[in-house]
Amino acid sequence: MTTIGVIGLGNMGRGMALSLQRGGFSVVGTDASEDTRRRLAGEGIEVVDSIAGIAARADIIALSLPTAAIVKQVVAGPAGLLASARKGVLVIDTSTSHPDTTRELARQLGEAGMSIIDAPVSGGPKGAITGQLTMVLGGSEADIARAGPVLAAMSAKRVRVGDVGAGHVAKIANNLMCAAHLIVAAEVTRLAESAGVAADQLLEGINAGSGRSGVTQVNFPTWILNGAFDSGFTMKLMRKDVRLAAELIGQTGLRLPLAAEVARLWGLSAETIGDDEDFNRIVELGTRPAGA
Ligand code: NAD
Repeated sequence: MTTIGVIGLGNMGRGMALSLQRGGFSVVGTDASEDTRRRLAGEGIEVVDSIAGIAARADIIALSLPTAAIVKQVVAGPAGLLASARKGVLVIDTSTSHPDTTRELARQLGEAGMSIIDAPVSGGPKGAITGQLTMVLGGSEADIARAGPVLAAMSAKRVRVGDVGAGHVAKIANNLMCAAHLIVAAEVTRLAESAGVAADQLLEGINAGSGRSGVTQVNFPTWILNGAFDSGFTMKLMRKDVRLAAELIGQTGLRLPLAAEVARLWGLSAETIGDDEDFNRIVELGTRPAGA
């Protein structure tokens, strides 16, 4: 039986590990947090307390980590996979990370006889635990084919968008759009309410028209209008994704004024909306006093 390692067992990695186990794989996971390791052990996932412990066992290793810097540390740091994994190991990075980080890690892993694909995801913790995520994939066709059964246990839809790093470019672009849509949908909702149309009726109209988006079709009814704000995706992570977009735009030298304004507003949100709050809370930007 193929053994899959999962590094990072948070909101997303937990569901991925459980879906992989349900899909018939032998799964071994680890996380920097002892509490998280204990919780996953309680849910029937075998956990170890080091990356070396994963490297000793796994043929394919999925990462679900917060930032590109942490991905780099886990792969190429002193106690990382490069130092401990065997030739032939395939890394699947499902984190939302920087394409340049992935490309550099691909080079280093390649020299050590290992490989990596980027497989960032949409669908949230619910998609992870039900194995219904969507993935945009970057990597060689051979590596993606090899990862196929593992990806299939975690996702319902997969689109290869190019070579290593391309998945992260596509995911950053996707999240920049989601970040922008949240702000514009919040503004038009306020506009309509001031002009006498209730938010739920406005959204019904928009969702029947050409202004609709994932945000108006999913986020508003599922997490915003009902006050639930429990998507499992935090302000901290979305702010990171918007920063990744701004960084990528900066590297290209393009002038993208709307994207720049979206990045400015998400940056500003740190003054009033906490890191651990739900990312949909961005709709409250400008309505809360600073320091609240
Ligand atoms: P999370 O913060 O819930 O989980 C990340 C986990 O990584 C934590 O448990 C943390 O302890 C662990 N970790 C941190 N440093 C580590 C290290 N050095 N070694 C081992 N484990 C370490 O985050 P999440 O919501 O699960 O997101 C994970 C990734 O998926 C992020 O890149 C995020 O942008 C992306 N993502 C999240 C969602 C979502 O809805 N939550 C959706 C799509 C993509």
